[in-house]
Amino acid sequence: MIGLGAEAGSPRCSRAGCSNAAAWAVLWRNPRIHGVDRRKTWLACAGHVDFLRDYLAARDFPVEVTPFHEAVS
Ligand SMILES: [Zn+2]
Repeated sequence: MIGLGAEAGSPRCSRAGCSNAAAWAVLWRNPRIHGVDRRKTWLACAGHVDFLRDYLAARDFPVEVTPFHEAVS
């Protein structure tokens, strides 16, 4: 991972302004612009996983939350 410019260490929460380590992966899709085989991944700390899931669920996006251990790729 040398040369990417990303900081080393644990992946971070996707919530704006949050730099906590990610504990959850929020998998979601926007049915209007994403095909059925396409999914986006947000990472969330324990304090923001509910916020992010609710944000997406409120838009009727399919959303799935799984514990984040390692790279989900
Ligand atoms: Zn967070």
